[in-house]
Amino acid sequence: MIGAGHAGLAMSRCLTERSIDHVVLERGEVANSWRTERWDSLRLLTPNWQSRLPGFGYEGDDPDGYRTIPEVVDFLSRYAEMIAAPVQTRSRVSSLTPADKGFAVVTQTGSWRCRAVVLATGACNIARVPAIAAAVPPHVATISSMDYRNPRQLDEGGVLVVGASATGTQLADEIHRSGRPVTLSVGEHVRAPRVYRGKDIQWWMDATGLHDERYDAVDDIDRVRRLPSLQLAGSPERRTLDLNALTGIGVRLVGRIAGISEGKAQFSGSLHNNCAMADLKMNRLLGTIDEWATSKGLDGEVDPPHRLAPTEVESAPPLGLDLQAGRIRTILWATGYRPDYSWLEVPILDRKGQVRHDGGVTEHPGLYLMGMQFLRRRKSALIDGAGDDARDLSDHLAAYLKQASI
Ligand SMILES: Cc1cc2nc3c(=O)[nH]c(=O)nc-3n(C[C@H](O)[C@H](O)[C@H](O)COP(=O)(O)OP(=O)(O)OC[C@H]3O[C@@H](n4cnc5c(N)ncnc54)[C@H](O)[C@@H]3O)c2cc1C
Repeated sequence: MIGAGHAGLAMSRCLTERSIDHVVLERGEVANSWRTERWDSLRLLTPNWQSRLPGFGYEGDDPDGYRTIPEVVDFLSRYAEMIAAPVQTRSRVSSLTPADKGFAVVTQTGSWRCRAVVLATGACNIARVPAIAAAVPPHVATISSMDYRNPRQLDEGGVLVVGASATGTQLADEIHRSGRPVTLSVGEHVRAPRVYRGKDIQWWMDATGLHDERYDAVDDIDRVRRLPSLQLAGSPERRTLDLNALTGIGVRLVGRIAGISEGKAQFSGSLHNNCAMADLKMNRLLGTIDEWATSKGLDGEVDPPHRLAPTEVESAPPLGLDLQAGRIRTILWATGYRPDYSWLEVPILDRKGQVRHDGGVTEHPGLYLMGMQFLRRRKSALIDGAGDDARDLSDHLAAYLKQASI
């Protein structure tokens, strides 16, 4: 196993259950990404009850709350201890190459030979920053969501946050409330209420089976894997953090950033369309939930159906912003993340640098992948999704080892 996040730990537990000898190589400590790569105020956007791992779950008295980062680190560390995961910390893998009957793995602390490898190094190792970032005028500071920790890191003055999915909306909210006026650049996004008919939206996604939808049952898996995250935040008040909530506190919306030229940012004219599309898709999701609730006879037990107000967008949002005028002091790129496979010397990457795989089984025998968006199910990248994927893939891996040893 490479990586001791929740995906690697879930797989380790499944391999132990099958008596498969293994080691988990981790460059930092258990839950390293949560320790080193998240902003201070982040809470999980999945409720406590939903962090289920094989043989482990939430036992506290706040199942509907949302964990803080120290709580996530504690949860995963306790899991590693409970399952006695054979983790070698401080063991960054610097190369993985095919070798006779398996693989050769080089780490900073030594070399390993093994018959099979599971890549559980995470989907979010590097901030995905668009190439136009190079054209930002030098007096405007730039930072990515990966390096952002809290508003005190930023100069006083205006901030352009680019990207309006879970990360961008949460950071726009926090930064604007810190007294730095935020302009938010909005592209395609997925809108959702935090609570619907008295239940968390994640409860509905779970109960209706939407989270269990399989990768081989959707029409365009490549597109679905690229979809932005739900616009959600975990807060003690269970607030819906959508664009209306942001404009309500004074955040200004502009379209998707299209370019930066001669010190001016240009935005596409698609803001109205993107917002209308997100409203439409959200209402479709809520309609699916309503139908399911009726079919299960739940209508008398949960609150009645309701709809959110359409996203409000000013009639002619600005198509340009002069970055030289001094109003914008910082640009924060909340434009997504990508994995880092710079150490992977097995030819399984596509031209976009992603591992080619069929539900986590790569085309190189004995090499598996965990923890990616919609790897095997809609929930695959969530903590809650690792268990089912690890069970499936450890079955495959066990069969592979058995057949390879004949
Ligand atoms: C901002 C943010 C918020 C999220 N919020 C939620 C949420 O609310 N609920 C939820 O369920 N999910 C959430 N996720 C998604 C998901 O849970 C995380 O991305 C999660 O960290 C992925 O788990 P993982 O085990 O696949 O990868 P990671 O947790 O990233 O673990 C990968 C591990 O591999 C190690 N590693 C990487 N490269 C090497 C190497 N070369 N050698 C050795 N070790 C290496 C890393 O140090 C790390 O410990 C969030 C993700 C992000 C980015």
